[in-house]
Amino acid sequence: MKIETLKECCGCAACLNKCPKNAIVMKENKQGYSYPDIDKNKCISCGLCEKVCPILNKLKKSKIQNQKFYAVKNKNEEIRSISSSGGVFNEIADYFLQNNGVVYGAIFTKDFKVKHIRAENEFDKNKMRGSKYVQSDIQDVYKNIESDLKKNKQVLFSGTPCQIAAVKKYLGKEEENLVTCDIICHGVSSPKVFREYLKMQSKKFKSEITSVSFRSKKIKGFVQSMEIEFKNGQRYLQKLYKDVYGYSFLNEILIRHSCFDCPYSTINRIGDITLGDFWGIEHITKSFDDKKGVSLVIINTNKGKEIFNNIKDNFQVIETNQGESLKYNRIGKIIKSKNYEKFWKRYEKVGIAYLSIYYYKKYICAIPQKLINKVKVGKK
Ligand SMILES: Cc1cc2nc3c(=O)[nH]c(=O)nc-3n(C[C@H](O)[C@H](O)[C@H](O)COP(=O)(O)OP(=O)(O)OC[C@H]3O[C@@H](n4cnc5c(N)ncnc54)[C@H](O)[C@@H]3O)c2cc1C
Repeated sequence: MKIETLKECCGCAACLNKCPKNAIVMKENKQGYSYPDIDKNKCISCGLCEKVCPILNKLKKSKIQNQKFYAVKNKNEEIRSISSSGGVFNEIADYFLQNNGVVYGAIFTKDFKVKHIRAENEFDKNKMRGSKYVQSDIQDVYKNIESDLKKNKQVLFSGTPCQIAAVKKYLGKEEENLVTCDIICHGVSSPKVFREYLKMQSKKFKSEITSVSFRSKKIKGFVQSMEIEFKNGQRYLQKLYKDVYGYSFLNEILIRHSCFDCPYSTINRIGDITLGDFWGIEHITKSFDDKKGVSLVIINTNKGKEIFNNIKDNFQVIETNQGESLKYNRIGKIIKSKNYEKFWKRYEKVGIAYLSIYYYKKYICAIPQKLINKVKVGKK
């Protein structure tokens, strides 16, 4: 497999799953994004890794069937309060578990790494709730999905559009028992930078971290907020755009190279159901907006329609249209920050300290150059 530039790999790990000789591992580069590393002694040059890659060999999308757009709120306030927006994912997942199915989605591990797991019960499924703005580690999830499908299990796979494309490429054919749920994704961030950011917070608060949420709803008004709880009882709560990590993520700095050319971030969605935030709901129907989170649900296929009809009673739903749904959201090409290359060059030299420097320089513009130089020199 020839990956000539960083943007030619989205880190979906389809190649690792497909390799018949287990010759591929995913390795982090200096920026903390994973790329396949092929053991040439094990490789038999079968070419399957290249064939399965959803970037080098794009997936032909099936036709959208009567696409529908909805603004949705879970009637259960508790579930909505711990979900990113309207709490829709939880109900789709419950439907599968109640029907003897399995669910695959992204969780935080005990040490706050983000990875995909298989859930057969409530406990594991609940860990999938909430957006984690970090690229998740897929490991051998596609192999496990294949094995579940062979056992005639009903499978729900939820992930970023490239991960959905990857599982479809991996399986190689439409599977009746597989339902896919893609998120409106504006790019994934570096696991290494996130690890270092958490270390920095832990040092600052002089305590171990016990929980992390990117979408805490404790700041009033459905803004995206970072909440970190510490063992010593302290709590960090900040609007995402005012947090050093959140700011760089939202401003297209902490975004994987390939995301800027994502072939799957289009209105012709890859999943049966697409989930996102219904930004701007207050401009469409004021009474529906209670500032506690509304999801945008896009139904793309008949399979998606059937699932949504079965769980609809758990929600308050308003049907809308493409124009209204996407007026304040982003589907399509993400524009790279003009500071992107400079940021990563500096980050590779300075490390995590540069994240704070970047943030303060851009946001407050008051950091003296002398201090910046001092941190840079100290860290080299
Ligand atoms: C990296 C990322 C970027 C996003 N960008 C946008 C955006 O620009 N616009 C927008 O409208 N919505 C975006 N979303 C989606 C949004 O944040 C919510 O996930 C969505 O509104 C569903 O909310 P919910 O309340 O129904 O469910 P939740 O309970 O919040 O559901 C979370 C679901 O997201 C999956 N998930 C969480 N983290 C990851 C991850 N790192 N990788 C893969 N899957 C993950 C879980 O498996 C679960 O299925 C993004 C999500 C992620 C993870």
